[in-house]
Amino acid sequence: MVAKINENYHLLKSSYIFAEINQRVEKYQNENPDADIIRMGIGDVTRPLPQAVIEEFHKAVDEMADSDTFRGYGPEQGYSFLIEDIIENDYLPRGIELSPDEVFISDGAKCDTGNIQEIFDLNNVVAVTDPVYPVYVETNVMAGRTGPMGSDGKYEKLVYLPCTAENDFVPELPQEDVDIIYLCFPNNPTGTTLTKEQLSKWVEYARENKAIILFDAAYEAYITEDNIPHSIYEIEGAREVAVEFRSFSKNAGFTGTRCAYTVVPQEVKAYDKDGNAHSLNPLWNRRQTTKFNGVSYPIQKAASAVYTPKGQKEIRESVNYYMKNAAIIRESLLDLGLKVYGGVNSPYIWIKTPDGMDSWKFFDLLLEKANVVGTPGVGFGPSGEGYLRLTAFNTLENTKQAMERISKLSI
Ligand SMILES: *Cc1c(COP(=O)(O)O)cnc(C)c1O
Repeated sequence: MVAKINENYHLLKSSYIFAEINQRVEKYQNENPDADIIRMGIGDVTRPLPQAVIEEFHKAVDEMADSDTFRGYGPEQGYSFLIEDIIENDYLPRGIELSPDEVFISDGAKCDTGNIQEIFDLNNVVAVTDPVYPVYVETNVMAGRTGPMGSDGKYEKLVYLPCTAENDFVPELPQEDVDIIYLCFPNNPTGTTLTKEQLSKWVEYARENKAIILFDAAYEAYITEDNIPHSIYEIEGAREVAVEFRSFSKNAGFTGTRCAYTVVPQEVKAYDKDGNAHSLNPLWNRRQTTKFNGVSYPIQKAASAVYTPKGQKEIRESVNYYMKNAAIIRESLLDLGLKVYGGVNSPYIWIKTPDGMDSWKFFDLLLEKANVVGTPGVGFGPSGEGYLRLTAFNTLENTKQAMERISKLSI
């Protein structure tokens, strides 16, 4: 007998994208030590935590120092003060009623979108939009729900739903039967959204086909237009087919602090081999209580401060700051005659490369001629080839500077 590894890990490809980017940037910087490189590939916020959050955070840390107010293990599902804040502020104003046992606080939407697949059978057919946030794909590869990656850049058995300029970044319903569908809107990496009507088609599909939608709404706070759903539960019937993921990372700067939540309505059901329906909620509860011990008290307190009037005002200011950058990027590139998507309801701008250049060639051009670093679209999936992503998370000054440089290129 020998200990054997999970060989599914050997199926994992790519994800070297950020390493490859760093390598190329480093090489360029070494050869051009005076180049002032502006990084616009970052998918991380840069503005500090709101003051309201910091104040609550400090207070809660002090409580931990006093035997009268010290707290040990909390509920695995999260403290009710935060769950109540979420229900009252993120859902009730949109006409969505949730019970406290339908909201699960966690340390990240990345973890939750990665872990949720555990409660589903390995034989489910999984569909993802293409390009895609790699977590959805790679966690299913690790679990053994796919075959190897083919020369087309697609894992066997996984269903890819292309989102390109040709279909206005609106995925078409799959031709084949699929059981689990990951949707992320506003989308990372394309920055595009679905209207209520467009999302309704997916809810209808899931209801008709007894499929489940895993809806990632991490960028909800960036929505500026009417008729873009902030939650999938704004769509009638979604409570029976959808799980929703939200995070404090992108709205309140919690990327390094870690707090998020997942909504699993009691009505969402999947089936056993005999065709009996089972609620997902108790399965997720079981998974979390067994494998997770909750988010720390000070962090949940800090997150609850996001819902105070002061917290709301401050997170609005940060989001507006990034969205001003997004508008600057969008408008500068449109003026140049480039085809540009996103940036209206999200901090991501998705650029069609000029003259049919491939993603890496355009990346090199921006790096060498403008000293601006983006992310090659092909790194997010085969349908990302021919695109490049810029983000609005840099400073206003750097964003303006980067756009001035790009505007001088003849592209
Ligand atoms: C940033 C991001 C998240 C948030 O992840 P956390 O683990 O909560 O920081 C989730 N989904 C997508 C698509 C993201 O880009």
